[in-house]
Amino acid sequence: MATTVVCPRVRQTGGGLDLEGELLKRFGYPQFRPGQRRLIEAILAGEDALGVMPTGGGKSLCFQFPGAVLEGTALVISPLIALMKDQVDALRARGIQAEFYNSTMKYDERFRVEEAVQSGRVRLLYMAPERMQQVGFMDLLAHTPISVLAIDEAHCISHWGHDFRPDYRRIGELRKFLRGPDPTKKVPVIALTATATQRVQVDIVERLGMKSAVQVITGFRRRNLSFEVKKCSGRAEKLRVLRELIDQALADGGSAVIYAATRKNVELVAEELQKSKSLSSWVSYYHAGLSDQARVRVQDQFINGVKRVLIATNAFGMGIDKANVRLVAHYDIPGSVEAYYQEAGRAGRDSKPARCILLFNFADVATQEFFIEKGVREEMEDGEEFPEHVKNQKELLKQLVRYAYGTTCRQKLILGYFGDPETQEFAGCGNCDCCKPETRPRFKVEGEVLLACRKALSAAARINDRFGKNRLAELLKGSQTAGLKTAGLQHLPVYGLLKDQTLGAIRELIDSLTDAGYLRITGLDYPVIGLTPAGIRALKQQEEIELTQDFGGGQKQKRFEEQRPKAPRDSGVLETLREFRREEALRRKVPAYLIFHDKTLEELAERRPDGLDELSEISGMGPKKLELYGEKILTILTSSQ
Ligand code: ADP
Ligand code: ZN
Repeated sequence: MATTVVCPRVRQTGGGLDLEGELLKRFGYPQFRPGQRRLIEAILAGEDALGVMPTGGGKSLCFQFPGAVLEGTALVISPLIALMKDQVDALRARGIQAEFYNSTMKYDERFRVEEAVQSGRVRLLYMAPERMQQVGFMDLLAHTPISVLAIDEAHCISHWGHDFRPDYRRIGELRKFLRGPDPTKKVPVIALTATATQRVQVDIVERLGMKSAVQVITGFRRRNLSFEVKKCSGRAEKLRVLRELIDQALADGGSAVIYAATRKNVELVAEELQKSKSLSSWVSYYHAGLSDQARVRVQDQFINGVKRVLIATNAFGMGIDKANVRLVAHYDIPGSVEAYYQEAGRAGRDSKPARCILLFNFADVATQEFFIEKGVREEMEDGEEFPEHVKNQKELLKQLVRYAYGTTCRQKLILGYFGDPETQEFAGCGNCDCCKPETRPRFKVEGEVLLACRKALSAAARINDRFGKNRLAELLKGSQTAGLKTAGLQHLPVYGLLKDQTLGAIRELIDSLTDAGYLRITGLDYPVIGLTPAGIRALKQQEEIELTQDFGGGQKQKRFEEQRPKAPRDSGVLETLREFRREEALRRKVPAYLIFHDKTLEELAERRPDGLDELSEISGMGPKKLELYGEKILTILTSSQ
């Protein structure tokens, strides 16, 4: 279908342009991908445009095409220096004159590029954002007719995004002095990103001063991927689940990528998996702590299929396009839905079915929050609020937690998150664990556990939608916390209904009831817990209860009914506790022993309390310390099990 677009600014052709014809002639593609045509048409007509498309969706073409056909030079701002060269090489191979300008270049090379730009021959000029600080080069740009200003990774301009870069803020100024081939017309801007929430999209449009921008958000749906969240009680269960998943991916003839949050966890998971006979020869790992050569080797071996299971931090994956990844599993929760979808999206590039699985344990969220706060905590005074960017990061994390606890189609939730209009069109993907609830394990609970579930539900009914999960756990435990008392909850008849259980076990039960759809958490800033219709039925009509986690027999049941066995003493935890103490001492400018005595830390590492009540039994843990440090210590203890 050849359509002609009227475009007075096009070189040579004098107006009418057969877009498909040009696409085939210049780029060798028979048709446009979703969204490309609309964005390109907008630019050709001199309008501003914002394109939000996933990685691999074909964003580059949206500025390369106008760059190739319009009069003047297209200026492309991109932070990914490594990818710049690839794009420039690919364009040149197609006979399109392109250059890049960044800090890795020698003086004479820069000079050559400057000359080429001045001559007007360059159709596309790629530039790293920090080059905007260079006055001489800016001056050159001011005198060069610019066809279009393209901003790749445009989310970097927004504080609300996950990768804010101060240099991007200069683009607003740059834009003001750029001139097109026709100086009476403004230079159109196209902003492109794979990861922008609606808030970030609005921010991009405002910061770039884009007027009535054409917005195209599309292509996020990945039909061949099935999304799942598996709730795991801790490290042992995660590893067990991983082994099964990987065995299956390998049996299907494919490869697997396992993402973990830290180098330490990457090595730990690799080590554990290597112990398994069927996997040992396939496993390797990748993180930024490896030497350059080692990283290249690991990457090559994975791409060539010599190694088929790769454990990696998020340092792995940028620009990697491996076809037969059948599984992307996350051992730790990443920082945002964007990050998750980008990493998970490396599965199934060959369009064949692949699985994306998030292994989830609520304690991981606290660990991530701890990391988010860690960087700034040292510089903060007591009682000071966290800076804006830390709050934003926590907010992004919360959205991913919402995904993890979601009970509706996961693909739809993700599309909605990015604002992809396709979300309105379908009821569910039919492929994720929420669309296929029968694929989620269900365990009928009996005896003690059933009783405990009913107690938890009746307590939830009492505080319905007024308090959060932790209050509910404390209420069931019959804790003595100030928060509980101020709210007057100690007078409720349900107070202390599960007093024989540990707070940890109670929380796990509440999580499980939430996951199975009996309880639900609503609200982002102040999440509250309440009963769902299923929860009300289970309570009022004494219906059976089925959970997605196995409390009903074997190990878990024991764990719930008896007390959780104490882990043996472990020097790793002690070290982490010491580090925590050191930081606190620095922050409060007091000697370390005033925070905690060695003896207290040792006792903590040994006894491993798993709730505030048990924590208060440790010597040296007065109520003040408990209030100041209690939650953080529990986080440290649960996250380094
Ligand atoms: P993004 O920047 O969105 O991650 P790219 O622009 O790098 O994606 O495009 C991904 C791949 O798709 C590239 O190999 C590109 O050549 C190819 N591509 C882009 N547009 C088309 C098209 N219309 N038809 C076929 N292939 C395309
Ligand atoms: Zn679904």
